Amino acid sequence: MPHTSADVAVIGAGVAGLASALALADAGLDVVLLADARAGEASPAAGGILDTNHGFALDSTRALMRTARDLWPSFAATVGERTGVLVPLNRDGVLELAPSMHDAERMRGTAGDDVTWLDATDLTALEPQLSHALGALHFRHDGALNPLVLLKALKHAVGKHIHVRVVSQTVTAIAPGRPDEAVTISLHDTPTLTSTTISAMRVVVAAGAWSGALSGVPMHLPIAPVRGQLMSVASKALRHVVMLGKGYAIPRGDGRTIIGSTEEHTGFDATHTAEGVQQIRALAAAILPSLGTAGMLSTWAGLRPMTRDGLPIIGQDAEFPSVLYACGHGKNGILLAPLTGLLITSLITGASAPTDPTPFSPLRF
Ligand SMILES: Cc1cc2nc3c(=O)[nH]c(=O)nc-3n(C[C@H](O)[C@H](O)[C@H](O)COP(=O)(O)OP(=O)(O)OC[C@H]3O[C@@H](n4cnc5c(N)ncnc54)[C@H](O)[C@@H]3O)c2cc1C
Repeated sequence: MPHTSADVAVIGAGVAGLASALALADAGLDVVLLADARAGEASPAAGGILDTNHGFALDSTRALMRTARDLWPSFAATVGERTGVLVPLNRDGVLELAPSMHDAERMRGTAGDDVTWLDATDLTALEPQLSHALGALHFRHDGALNPLVLLKALKHAVGKHIHVRVVSQTVTAIAPGRPDEAVTISLHDTPTLTSTTISAMRVVVAAGAWSGALSGVPMHLPIAPVRGQLMSVASKALRHVVMLGKGYAIPRGDGRTIIGSTEEHTGFDATHTAEGVQQIRALAAAILPSLGTAGMLSTWAGLRPMTRDGLPIIGQDAEFPSVLYACGHGKNGILLAPLTGLLITSLITGASAPTDPTPFSPLRF
């Protein structure tokens, strides 16, 4: 049974694991990235909206999300320079349509520094196809990216990094020891039916919706899979990301628009369904009727790793400091990827971080 070691083992190669591995390796640590591929991975399924406003009750949380968003231009540029894979950022802002006149009045009152209220005339000037709408808030600095392009760039950057070794196997268990002892990680390689162990001074649990199911993880991780179905349709109607209730439309700028999404508690079932397609079409039609009937190009589903408060778990285990968590990113894992990498690295190396990680602490549960 071969036994190798590393400074840090990162479990999971979604955006949380990849961004963490990259930041740790950039800090000079010897990283091993352990990941299998499985149905329902959230990162390739995501829409890719950089949305700093929805689902966050507190101003302080929205400020944190804006910090995360503002890391994106330099993060995307750096990854692009290293790999030649450009990750285009749509920074045209996100439009949130007013569902009713009553909501329009309320929403108008919430406009602020980087949020503009657009009445029907202003909105039509910006997005001519939305002439039927009552008005919208324009979150001017939000936007979107294509997660598939992002994953390609991140995998390339991590794969060629001199401080990273990628092991494409399933982690079957972790066994953390005392603070100064290495963590032993058991692996299984499905094609060859062989088992191995690896040891690392730290382990970062970044296994998305499956994080809580990893054997040996010291704390109970309150993360539930929430299935989201999305569709790609042939439409060039919109230029901006547009949201209305649970519905959204994300123009990719190449003749495709992504529409979504469902929120379903179906365990680890990651299949997409006829009911899901119907639901998505209805949500999209409420934004723009032609989107509801646009030609479907493809449809898919992924599992959001949701915590109870919608915030990720980024921090050190209370009892076993060699175990760190970078999971539970829910609906915002793309937005939070660069910040996650920096926070995990600062927790391990003591380097300064762009923000205080306390709101994401595992100790809050
Ligand atoms: C439909 C949908 C739409 C979304 N839209 C957006 C959006 O617009 N904006 C946004 O910011 N976020 C969005 N999200 C959320 C975002 O996709 C997630 O928060 C993020 O991708 C989570 O990344 P992750 O790396 O934690 O998990 P994942 O991407 O799921 O990756 C987990 C990885 O761990 C691996 N793994 C698990 N268990 C093991 C094991 N035992 N051994 C080895 N490997 C293991 C898996 O194979 C996988 O590679 C959306 C999600 C969905 C599903």
